[in-house]
Amino acid sequence: MNQFLMKPRVQFGANALDYLSQINAQHAFIVTDKAMVKFGLADEVIHRLSQQGISFSLYDDVVPDPEISSIVKGMKIMDSQYPDLVIALGGGSVIDAAKAVIYSLWHTRQDSHRAKPHFVAIPTTSGTGSEVTSFSVIKSNSEKLVLVDEFMLPDVAILDPVLVKSVPAAITADTGMDVLCHALEAYVSRSASDFSDALAEKAVQLVFAHLIDCYRDGSNLVAREKMHNASCIAGMAFTNASLGITHSLAHALGGVFHIPHGRANALLMAQVVAFNAGLEGCCETNAAKRYADLARKLNLPASNIREGVESLIMAINVLKDEMNMPKGIHATGVNETDFNARLGEMVGQALRDSCTPTNPRDVNEKQLEALYRQSF
Ligand code: NAD
Repeated sequence: MNQFLMKPRVQFGANALDYLSQINAQHAFIVTDKAMVKFGLADEVIHRLSQQGISFSLYDDVVPDPEISSIVKGMKIMDSQYPDLVIALGGGSVIDAAKAVIYSLWHTRQDSHRAKPHFVAIPTTSGTGSEVTSFSVIKSNSEKLVLVDEFMLPDVAILDPVLVKSVPAAITADTGMDVLCHALEAYVSRSASDFSDALAEKAVQLVFAHLIDCYRDGSNLVAREKMHNASCIAGMAFTNASLGITHSLAHALGGVFHIPHGRANALLMAQVVAFNAGLEGCCETNAAKRYADLARKLNLPASNIREGVESLIMAINVLKDEMNMPKGIHATGVNETDFNARLGEMVGQALRDSCTPTNPRDVNEKQLEALYRQSF
């Protein structure tokens, strides 16, 4: 049976944060990180809560790619607070941490008689779409585990472009390529549908039209708003259609070598498109046709399928170059000896990653290893 799930209310555009002034609650638990405090974004939230007479406590210890230990710490503090409102303010790491804490406290505990708090996600990067997905990515040792449950979906997502103005250029590039990867992988996924296609196509178009402007001028609020919307739209697509092996490979690479998630995707994406399309052969896979369709929608040269796939790959690489992104895994500081030493472990993780089954082309260990080597 097919389904397409749309959960959170989405408040978007300039002043979207003012939606907080419409919320009734007694006590809010704010999950965030130190950067949100430093850049004054946490104050923007606190100010609006105070106007409503809502008391709050702040947990600002989340770090990029959160580990299980930070979830356990967050659980202990949140459990003592009895919040009826949880606000996740930050990038995907913060939102994922809040999701995992809520899941652990309210869904898995048989003894919890307390009602699940109202959950508001406020993304401050335009990348993961976590504010609308039923996923949470948590690290255990050097492996990224993907927790999947609709219980974690926020009730409200607030997309205010002002909150992403402070994202530095390199993180704008990383997170923007994550959006592109979500949309591309959802579009060719084995679980794609008319519904997810519509969203994925729009997200791809928005990324190619606006990401470079965000990178060049982070204060361009028009471009920032478009990319913030694109991130959320791509999230809606992939929470339904799932993803593919760019993500499987990137989860393992990021977990082992601490490469930011979006950058890891950007390093692998073009090679995976070529693989899925079967570019080494006659290029007649279903994925190849889908990539060529997208190329046409982007007005790239695509007089036949092969040309469409090649144009799309070139457009990805040009965008990466324009944003001065690393040209290979080696350029992120990973040395070849360490890379080779961890290759088998990464291949094993990628093979069992939850994104692998929906990749449009079957893949084996040898092929995953080859994709890593090509991307090095
Ligand atoms: P992030 O949340 O790790 O943040 C990256 C850095 O940017 C951090 O140092 C953070 O403090 C800083 N930052 C965030 N917002 C800022 C702002 N407005 N101004 C200045 N600095 C800011 O990065 P991310 O790419 O958003 O999230 C990555 C995580 O999300 C990874 O763990 C990844 O695996 C996961 N992820 C989750 C999903 C999902 O559906 N749940 C999807 C994709 C990725």
